[in-house]
Amino acid sequence: MTRTIPHFVGGSLLTSKDGRFGDVYDPSTGSVQARVPLASAGEVRRVIDDAEAAQPGWAATNPQKRARVLLRFLDLVQKNMTELATLLSSEHGKTVEDARGDIQRGLEVIEFSAGAPHLLKGEYATEAGSGIDVYSMRQPLGVVAAITPFNFPAMIPLWKAGPAIAAGNAFVLKPSERDPSVPVRLAELFLEAGLPAGIFNVVHGDKEAVDTLLTDPRIQAVGFVGSTPIAEYIYTTATAHGKRAQCFGGAKNHMIVMPDADLDLVTDALIGSGYGSAGERCMAISVAVPVGDETADALAAKLTERASQLRIGPALAEDVDYGPLVARSAVERVEDYIQQGIDAGATLLADGRGLTIPGHEEGFYLGPTLFDHVTPDMSIYREEIFGPVLVIARAADYEQALAMASDHEFGNGVSIFTRDGDAARDFTARVNVGMVGVNVPIPVPIAYFTFGGWKRSGFGDLNQHGADAFRFYTKTKTVTSRWPAHGVRDGASFVIPTMH
Ligand code: NAD
Repeated sequence: MTRTIPHFVGGSLLTSKDGRFGDVYDPSTGSVQARVPLASAGEVRRVIDDAEAAQPGWAATNPQKRARVLLRFLDLVQKNMTELATLLSSEHGKTVEDARGDIQRGLEVIEFSAGAPHLLKGEYATEAGSGIDVYSMRQPLGVVAAITPFNFPAMIPLWKAGPAIAAGNAFVLKPSERDPSVPVRLAELFLEAGLPAGIFNVVHGDKEAVDTLLTDPRIQAVGFVGSTPIAEYIYTTATAHGKRAQCFGGAKNHMIVMPDADLDLVTDALIGSGYGSAGERCMAISVAVPVGDETADALAAKLTERASQLRIGPALAEDVDYGPLVARSAVERVEDYIQQGIDAGATLLADGRGLTIPGHEEGFYLGPTLFDHVTPDMSIYREEIFGPVLVIARAADYEQALAMASDHEFGNGVSIFTRDGDAARDFTARVNVGMVGVNVPIPVPIAYFTFGGWKRSGFGDLNQHGADAFRFYTKTKTVTSRWPAHGVRDGASFVIPTMH
């Protein structure tokens, strides 16, 4: 019988009784390996009940003790890394090595969040007026929720949970229904690390569960990562219901290749960032923008050769550069884009369609696909494909390349490869994109900086992790306090107090 993945609620695994289920595939073989419950509104409300009951006790636990739970969790996840990475690969399809990176990037934010005692400190000003001191404190919001995508089933839940929990909130995670097992294991490890029951909850589901989180008045804040249309929907619905929201969406990350760049370095960078994890990364480079035809011709030749050498196979196999896509529907969607590119007149240099892996004929595989002469009017340039498809969109000069990245509707990441410090400096200052790399293909900021795209890649005004995360998951209270000397009395005042 097919295994059923449980929810994790109030400190225990919970088997769903409400009866709706989805299939969880093994993308490497194309077979169903488990089923995931899709929670009803009533089930989600019961999860919020538990979280609400647990939160005040956790908020009253001093921040250093809360941080120690995160440190123990860090240790436990590291001890269980191989098991977690294998489980992640088996549902997502990324290689085990890449799955370790997914988990490790999440742990780096847990590590950062263990600095909560420092990050939660307020400010203090003495003698702001006669006998008056002013100070601020950061207090948790209460119960907060996160809705996360399939492509980083460990990293993104941990980016949200680390700061939220460290700040004293209770956390309800609605992970992707495509690869839901790792979040449940993380919940078990949190409990083992000493996190009280009800503080980290996992409820599986689809739109019904999400809409319940977005409308229940007890949820104070919603963090979302996923595709742009859903990000926009979550942002408008959550904020219309009076919640804080930060919602991150899709991407079309450009890499500008200046004529002076080292093309071997550029080719390595594009092959790794364009095709790694089958292109299913929000920070994947999906558009190469060589400046000048000479650079473009040389780059196209190198990329074509390297793409033909890539090794694609089952996620758990060794010596594989990337594994299958997450779902058959994802393969079909990407194949449709490839056809649109051909129909629009782009030059197909490598065609990944029709790839079969012996022994895994039903797996969701696609070979590396490369287009040249792609122009900004084509759908394969404008839209996020989210697969192993790299397009070359040529620019006549630097200004045109800069404008292409800046004018694109998405503004998640961008990078420039050059040896010219002046060009790089001008680019970083002027480009209209949230995260920028210089000779770095995937400029995902480290945990103690913040992560967030611009334009239609991000909705809301605070980023993920770094100091912004602690601002997002806390509210600031400011206290003005006066201890007048004994017997001093000013009498009633009818004007607003000033520092005159
Ligand atoms: P998705 O938008 O399909 O799903 C994300 C989450 O939303 C899932 O938990 C899903 O269950 C839920 N959801 C889906 N449809 C919904 C609906 N109609 N109503 C309510 N909830 C719904 O995204 P995905 O396919 O899981 O992930 C891939 C996308 O995520 C890509 O667009 C990628 O660029 C983006 N992404 C962005 C970032 C970033 O930081 N900007 C990071 C990772 C992934």
